[in-house]
Amino acid sequence: MAKSEPDQTQLIPEETPETVPVLVPLALPAPYDYLVPEGADVRPGSFVVAPLGPLKYVAAVWRRPEGAAAPNIPRSKLRALVDVLDDVPPLPEISLDFAEWVADYTLTPPGMVLRMMMSASAAFQPPPPRYGVRLAGPPPERMTPARTRVLDAAGNGLIWVKSLLAEAAGVSPGVIDGLVDAGTLVAEPLPDTIARELDPSLLRAELSDEQRRAAEQLLDNTRDGFAVSLLDGVTGSGKTEVYFEAIAQALSDGKQALVMIPEIALTAAFLTRCEERFGARPAEWHSGLTQSARGRTWRAVAEGKAQLVVGARSALFLPFPNLGLIVVDEEHDQAYKQEDRVSYQARDMAVVRGHLGKCPVVLSSATPSIESLVNAEQGRYRHIPLRARYKAAGLPDLKAIDMRKSPPERGSWLSPVLTEAMAETLARGEQALLFLNRRGYAPLTLCRKCGYRFECPNCSAWMVEHRFRHRLECHHCGKFAPIPDECPSCGAEESLVACGPGVERIAEEVEALFPEARRAILSSDLTPRIADLRETLREIEDREVDIVIGTQLVAKGHHFPGLALVGVVDADLGLAQGDPRAAERTFQLLSQVTGRAGREAIAGRGLLQTYMPEHPVLQALVAGDRDAFYAQEIEARREAGMPPFGRLASLLISGSDRAAAESYARSLARAAPPAETIEVLGPAEAPLSVVRGRYRYRILVKAPREADIQAYLRLWMADAPKARGSIRLSIDIDPYNF
Ligand code: ADP
Ligand code: ZN
Repeated sequence: MAKSEPDQTQLIPEETPETVPVLVPLALPAPYDYLVPEGADVRPGSFVVAPLGPLKYVAAVWRRPEGAAAPNIPRSKLRALVDVLDDVPPLPEISLDFAEWVADYTLTPPGMVLRMMMSASAAFQPPPPRYGVRLAGPPPERMTPARTRVLDAAGNGLIWVKSLLAEAAGVSPGVIDGLVDAGTLVAEPLPDTIARELDPSLLRAELSDEQRRAAEQLLDNTRDGFAVSLLDGVTGSGKTEVYFEAIAQALSDGKQALVMIPEIALTAAFLTRCEERFGARPAEWHSGLTQSARGRTWRAVAEGKAQLVVGARSALFLPFPNLGLIVVDEEHDQAYKQEDRVSYQARDMAVVRGHLGKCPVVLSSATPSIESLVNAEQGRYRHIPLRARYKAAGLPDLKAIDMRKSPPERGSWLSPVLTEAMAETLARGEQALLFLNRRGYAPLTLCRKCGYRFECPNCSAWMVEHRFRHRLECHHCGKFAPIPDECPSCGAEESLVACGPGVERIAEEVEALFPEARRAILSSDLTPRIADLRETLREIEDREVDIVIGTQLVAKGHHFPGLALVGVVDADLGLAQGDPRAAERTFQLLSQVTGRAGREAIAGRGLLQTYMPEHPVLQALVAGDRDAFYAQEIEARREAGMPPFGRLASLLISGSDRAAAESYARSLARAAPPAETIEVLGPAEAPLSVVRGRYRYRILVKAPREADIQAYLRLWMADAPKARGSIRLSIDIDPYNF
């Protein structure tokens, strides 16, 4: 800027219409100025194609900070935009506000936030026409049973997506193609399903008294601009039915609504439920969609046609021009924290988005985060409790099994108390679920002769035996290797032993104990395809399964009407990790998973296998004394000045050379500016000290709540040594693990 010649720049008016700041979706410090092609009409938010170096990028026209003048760059030095994408809906002003806010808070270049907002590449190309088929022509000359089924299924006048018609008729897609060739089915453009009208008053549930009171409070708090409600109701209390009322209100007001859910495996059931309630399927948004589906949804949201969107955390960055409600379901869930690229906590950013867009926010959970409960206690959020389950026998009865007193037999992981309870449950024709949050067969494999342990060559972690897939796997970098016949160290044969259980091993034990029972294992590596997972979930719901063995995949949100017993194989697992969030996380996870039992007429119970039944988390679970647990946990955080009573940021330094990474981390820490109230702790080895061959160090920054931790970090980074070579520095504001 300063290099331009002053007399020349005087000639350029303050804000000529022909130059605009443009934000390119890259890690650049700020928008760059470009010349607008003659006759083109752009405004902040318009999408354009901008040249940068030798490449061209789809980018967004941005705006200058308030009161800032156009920079003094001679026009001859500016490059012109290559294209203006008139047919792409522009980002609404609110998306610009939000991007800037998020960039500022997370210390991320704004272009990287824009890049998240644009994560639907197909939206920036002209949408391809989509064709379906309709029964319109004469029947084919040659009829076959398969063709008859298609004609029966096709009905009259309906336009079908080809694959769905094939599925409905139970035929291969080739049969459909054959009927198109024969002129019986005719190809027609598909209607825009995302824009289907939702009916807010279609199927209103008859709310119980408690639910109605909660709904009234919620509507009162969501009626009028920004406010946050914490819908805090036990599992199965009908939180969804209650917040549906708030969605109905937003839709009736002609506004868009967004529901965020933490687990994409749950979307199918949730979409169906929305469809039953509002008469049309909402738009969905998550990483499992095809690029073209993402593109369609992105456009429909930007054009205001998608009224209700159900999605993962990234849905928050969709360009809603007219958002009237955000619901964060299971708001405590760790999945809302994104740690790679731009690190952000989607629950907190939802509140920010609500605030900027004057739109109410509903946080819903049976086990709220400590952060949200404290906000409710301090009056920032409205606390709306639901204490009773809807029409159910009550909350499951939880008991601890003291494994020191009731030990399993050798080579077994289930105590007799638990297996007897399972036998009783099965005898009554009810379902049982065994929960163990560990994938694979065994977490550690070692040689009985020499003590050799299989460790990942890239990570500071053991290789986990996956017996069903016949291999050892690292859960951090994905490296895998066959299970050898002999010890790689001493060469002994048949000396390798698997130590400890994973879900596969529990499934093996269940098979030996209950050979007649129908079993299902739910683990992300065994059901990598969403469609298979959905199918298994449906089988469980429809009681085609007797015993479910699962990882945390089963803990979340499912409604299994036949489930009577939940056995937690190792209740101590999460507590052993010993980080400051261990208690909160374990309490939430175990409440959620045991909360799957006894959802309808059946009385539910949960049995928790533990070696430390005196631990406060287990005590609170067994006593059903949630409030005591939270009170204690909140007090501990307050005393330690930990979030939400203090602020944290984590600086993660990694590099392929240990000494270089460590020495950079030290020089970075030394460069920290002195501050009275802000503590800089470390560097220390990160909790996982090596991942993917990179050595990791961590510096924690701890500040009082009122401190401006971002300003402090900016000051620090401005003068700090730069990371060079293989070394990377990533900053995480409000880290989940601390
Ligand atoms: P939560 O979200 O609190 O776990 P849900 O809203 O999923 O609870 O409700 C649990 C089950 O009870 C669901 O199957 C739901 O359809 C049913 N349910 C809850 N409230 C009602 C109601 N007022 N009328 C009919 N069914 C209800
Ligand atoms: Zn590894």
